[in-house]
Amino acid sequence: MKARPWLRGLACSLIMLTVPGWANEIEDDLIITPPPAAAPAADETSDSAAPPETADPAAPPVAAEADAEAGPAASPPVEQETASVNEMGPFRFLDTDVMPGTTRRLSWVASESFLGISVPTPVLVAHGTRPGPVLCLTAAVHGDELNGIEMVRRVLYGLEADELAGTVVGVPIVNLFGFRRSSRYLPDRRDLNRYFPGNAHGSSASRIAHAFFEGIIRHCDALVDVHTGSFHRTNLPQLRADLDHPAVLDLTQGFGAIAVLQSEGPPGTLRGAATQAGIPAVTLEAGEPMRFQPEEVAQGVKGIRSLLNHMKMLSRISLWGEPQPVYYESDWVRADSGGILFSRVGLGDRVKKGDVLGTVTDPITNTRIEVISTVRGQVLGMALNQVVIPGFAAYHIGIEKSRDEVAEEAATADELTPENEAPDADVEEAPSPPPVEAPEPPPEPLPETDERPD
Ligand SMILES: [Zn+2]
Repeated sequence: MKARPWLRGLACSLIMLTVPGWANEIEDDLIITPPPAAAPAADETSDSAAPPETADPAAPPVAAEADAEAGPAASPPVEQETASVNEMGPFRFLDTDVMPGTTRRLSWVASESFLGISVPTPVLVAHGTRPGPVLCLTAAVHGDELNGIEMVRRVLYGLEADELAGTVVGVPIVNLFGFRRSSRYLPDRRDLNRYFPGNAHGSSASRIAHAFFEGIIRHCDALVDVHTGSFHRTNLPQLRADLDHPAVLDLTQGFGAIAVLQSEGPPGTLRGAATQAGIPAVTLEAGEPMRFQPEEVAQGVKGIRSLLNHMKMLSRISLWGEPQPVYYESDWVRADSGGILFSRVGLGDRVKKGDVLGTVTDPITNTRIEVISTVRGQVLGMALNQVVIPGFAAYHIGIEKSRDEVAEEAATADELTPENEAPDADVEEAPSPPPVEAPEPPPEPLPETDERPD
């Protein structure tokens, strides 16, 4: 595939981080798991603006080691300034003390012996100098969803830890297995985002989910999990969130103008499990898989920065003040015939019932059928131009109704139609083939739906 060399390039650039203030730590921390081969020096040094040290007697062993082996790297004037202005102690995370006002790159390993291969997943941490929440950003839970990787990088490397209140934790590539293979899935073809919060004694997916949830997510006060559309579909930058939880609702309101779609999400999502565990969480969807899309990335970054402001973690104010459309209901418009789909609308377009959204042309018979909108609303997601079969879910429309209208209808119409409830079981997510190895316990049934591919 064309994307592969690119991905390798990205993987390299992720490893060869060159941003001042991070580079040293990164190299060091990467080799923490095995016995440190090269000098794990300069942990704190590179953090420009005089990394404030606490007088905490539970002093960080990390700093001590670093000093011991500091070698040629600049040695930080660590111990002197201890009386400086910190109310904050170190952030204890992944067996490391991250000092106030510093940024660190750590690594998380799902299992010492998973598949006999240790795959350390980079985790970026910026720990502020003032008290505040721990905001976690995760991306590439689906290994082929790339926009979030870049969003996490930009947000984390754009932070000045010494101006930050609270802590930001970023995991740019949760599913490193999938990422390396340009695949949405884990090596056993399971979808990691259906296994949270996981089980220490379950399937491999379930164990990875468990380790990640316990090792990282439990430390978070709020979570943004970044995704893209799946299977040749693209999404308008939007939040998926269960707005019945007040803390989740509040989180969504921090993102500025990004659209919000009410969604409980399929069982087993990281978002759902976190919310269940009392950690308000949203999914940020943006763009399509297998690509890095500058506009979508920029919008996501703007939304997350706005959230940092909303959570009072930044001192500079740059709220994104435009109104935020909220959709309590959405529906998929399907192609009724097979052929080549050509869209006439774009992401974000407002459409009315009866509008032509696109056409499906049979290349052999030359018959052309229009795909007509059945609802009024905004195009939140859509299929890329491609060959489709009858019933293919082509356009995801956020329906413009108030919350009360939706509630009222739900009360009167005994139940939602299967279409509304679970569109696209077949097309969206189901193609996941059976696991290729060790299917004990048997693979959990695939979710009914995933046009909402959290
Ligand atoms: Zn995803």
